Formats: sequence, C-alpha cells, structure tokens
Amino acid sequence: MASSRSTRPPVVTILGHVDHGKTSLLDRIRHASVAAGEIGGITQAIGAYQIEHQGRKITFIDTPGHAAFSAMRARGGHAADVAILIVAADDSVMPQTRESIEHIKQAGIPFVVALNKIDLPDANPEKIKADLAGSGVYVEGFGGNVPLVQISAKTGQGIDDLLEVVLLLSDMEELVDNSDVKPATALVIESSLHSQKGPLATLLVKQGTYHKNDSLFDGSENYGKIRSMVDFAGVSLDQATPSTPIQIIGFSQVPSVGDIITSSPLKEEISDTSKAQSDVVSVDKPNIVLKADVGGSLEAIMASIKDEVNILHSSVGFVSETDVQNALSGKAEIIGFNTKIPSSVAKLAEVEHVKFSNFRIIYQLFDYLKELKEKKDESREILPVETGQAKVLKVFNFGGTIVYGCIATSGKIRKGDLVGKSVVTSLKAGKEDLEDVKKDQEFGVVLSPLVDFKPGDIIIFQSLESKI
Ligand code: GDP
Repeated sequence: MASSRSTRPPVVTILGHVDHGKTSLLDRIRHASVAAGEIGGITQAIGAYQIEHQGRKITFIDTPGHAAFSAMRARGGHAADVAILIVAADDSVMPQTRESIEHIKQAGIPFVVALNKIDLPDANPEKIKADLAGSGVYVEGFGGNVPLVQISAKTGQGIDDLLEVVLLLSDMEELVDNSDVKPATALVIESSLHSQKGPLATLLVKQGTYHKNDSLFDGSENYGKIRSMVDFAGVSLDQATPSTPIQIIGFSQVPSVGDIITSSPLKEEISDTSKAQSDVVSVDKPNIVLKADVGGSLEAIMASIKDEVNILHSSVGFVSETDVQNALSGKAEIIGFNTKIPSSVAKLAEVEHVKFSNFRIIYQLFDYLKELKEKKDESREILPVETGQAKVLKVFNFGGTIVYGCIATSGKIRKGDLVGKSVVTSLKAGKEDLEDVKKDQEFGVVLSPLVDFKPGDIIIFQSLESKI
C-alpha cells in the first residue's frame, strides 16, 4: 500500500441517476467519518469535504450535476481521481447512469459500483449486474474486474467496504504529493456571489500550497488575494495542500466552475505605474520587460515569475517606445499579457531587434518563460578572462618548489587564478601570504602544475567567468 507521506489524498466523486442515493451516500459517509465537532462547524455545504478512513484522508466532491463534471473535463482538469458509480438495486441502469459511465470512461479514472438500497426487499443485484454489462460495465464475478460493493446509504451497510475499495483503487493511481510545486493551482468546483462577502469559491487544490494572502488569478481578468480561506467545516486555514477543498473569499469576480486558479505569494506594493525593479539582477535569468492589461494580472504574473526571470520594468497598458528602449538597454525581451503594440512601436522594436511576444493564455506565457530560461542556461559559456599580467624577474628553487619572483605589470592577480591549465597556489611578498597583488607590486608565485618560465617572460593570469 502506498505510504501516505509521499501521496496526496484521493479525490472522489459520486455519479449516478437521480434518486439512486448520491446525496444520501455523501451524507452517510460524512456523518460516519467526520468528527462530531467538525460537523457542528458546518454552516453550509461547500460542495466538497474531507474524511479520514483508516487514518487516511479522502476528499469527496459533490459536483452539482453532470454539467459541472463536463465543464471541468472540457478544461482539461480532472477533478476526481476515483469515481463511485451509484446504482439503486431496486431500479435499473437509467439514462444518467449511462451518462455517468460515459463521463467516467472519458476521464479515464478507476471506479467502483456502489449498489445502493440493498436493504429494500425488491433489491435485485443480479439484474443490475446484467444491466451494467449491457452498458459495457463488467463487474467482478460478472465477466469483468470492476469492483462492486453492495451498500445501503440508509442503514450504513457496506460503507466501510466501499471506502476500503476506494483506497485500494487510489493506491493504484500515482497520487504524488506535489505540495512544493510553484505556482500553486486549484480547480473551481463551486462558486457564487455572496451579498456581503462578495465572490465565494470552493477550490480543490491540485498542486502546490495555497496560503492566506496569496494572489489569485484565473488566467484572464479575474484576480484577487486570498482574504479568507476556510476548510469544508468553516475552520480557518493558513495553508492548504493538494486535494484539500477550500472556500476562498477575495476574488474580484465570481470564477466559473472548472476554472484553474493560479496562486502565488503576493509582492507588496506593486504599483501600476512603470517602475524599475529594485531586485538584484541575476545573470542566470533572462531579462524581460513585462506589460499586462490590468494591474491585477500584472501583479499575479510578477508574483509567479519573479524567481525565474529578471523583470527590469513592468507596467500596465500597450507597449510603448520607452518599453522598447528599456528592453534594448537591458538586453531584454518584452513579454505582454493581453496587451497590444502600436505599429509605430512595433517598427521601432523590429529595427532595434527587440523581441515582443504577447500571450492570452497564462500557461503559454509561463511555458514561454520556461523555454527562455532553458535557452539561457544552455547558452551560458564559461570562458577564461584575463585578470592581470606580471613579468618574471627571478626564478627560485626552494627545496624543489619553483617560485617565480615577479612584478605585476597590469590588473589584479589573485590566488586561484589560472596560468594556462595551472593554478596559482601561492602568492607571497617575502614571507607574507597574499590574497591578491596589484600593478607594480613585487611578489613570489607558485604554479601547480609547474609551468616553465625564465626571467623576462610575461605571465598572463586568467580566471573563469560565466559569459552570457
Ligand atoms: P440522489 O438524487 O441520487 O441524491 O438521491 P437521494 O440521496 O436524494 O435519495 C433518493 C431517495 O432514496 C431518498 O428518499 C432517500 O431517502 C432514498 N434512499 C437513498 N439511499 C437509500 C438506501 O440505501 N435505502 C433506502 N431504503 N432508501 C434510500
């Protein structure tokens, strides 16, 4: 069984025909497995909750109908890792049962059939198994390997077995704990507008860790800051890791179900006006000038990329001649998000060979910057650069160690410098050890391995530097 340290909790969804008992099952599991104190705290359903079974967490999401499930799938975000297909044992495979089967198959996630209402006298498991086979679902003992558990959401029969199977199925998936990944992303599974609190959203953390006060960004124009973050029981959280359902306040607009929300620590006091960044510019990172449509997206993008690139300037609006000049003097590219470049400015950029790329999809912008960083890493060369020169005045032999008595003629010569493939292992003036010597200083130097110099020779000293 997978260790709970390296994995995240599985996210489970229950699908099935109306009246087959989805709500009853969700309620039953919650009441059976959530500590009484926590239930007391539940003030409203947020569309998801988390339980503990055999010491392991399981997240259940209660997607409001199949439309939400489809919306999430259409956006490429599989909300769930494991599905429970609920079928009432006194009924049969119904249209929404078949629709659910279709959804599950398209999502490509493992599932278990929960044969519900087994307590009813007219429950007929064999008939349902045959019905399922007719819809392409072959359960264990009926020509296939899809697990089936007989349950009653009413009496609680079989619920433990069902949870056991859910854990077994999730162990076969690789649910890697990716709480260190940056930026953090989450999927909107429910959203609404609250008259006092403003936009409310239930998010399921997909990767990374969400923190209070971090930025929120949906990749287009909805942004914000996590003002409040609570778990399903209404308990305030400082941070939330993958598979945790959270309710967030702080969006500027109500996000749509299925939206992917990016979150990063928010830099304080980022103004909309153009300003040079005070951060030290790193030679390892590509330089960019960043332009975005609105202040919110600018802030959110900057927070997400500041560790990857040097943002020389950032501002809101169309690309201007100043941006091109700034890019030129800083050897930077201009990166835009939902912005435009007037044709006169585009011409200037072309003449000056300043590259401009505009993005409408945030992930494409992130991907591009990643590529830029990789190119930068590849293009970096380590080259020897001259540090100074010295003239050999005399050659000494101290018990086999050759010391060249020199006078520095230019630059600054340091211990550790190179002479060809040899290294300066000792720099001395008389008996005194020196770290470096400057022009006109007399000194003795030992090179290892030995290089053959005679009085009158000029020694050229070098050091290795990373050149971009
Ligand atoms: P949903 O529409 O799938 O969410 O179904 P509900 O959970 O609302 O259940 C529909 C009806 O079936 C309700 O009247 C429930 O009380 C009843 N029901 C659900 N599960 C069981 C069960 O295991 N046994 C019995 N006898 N009735 C159940």
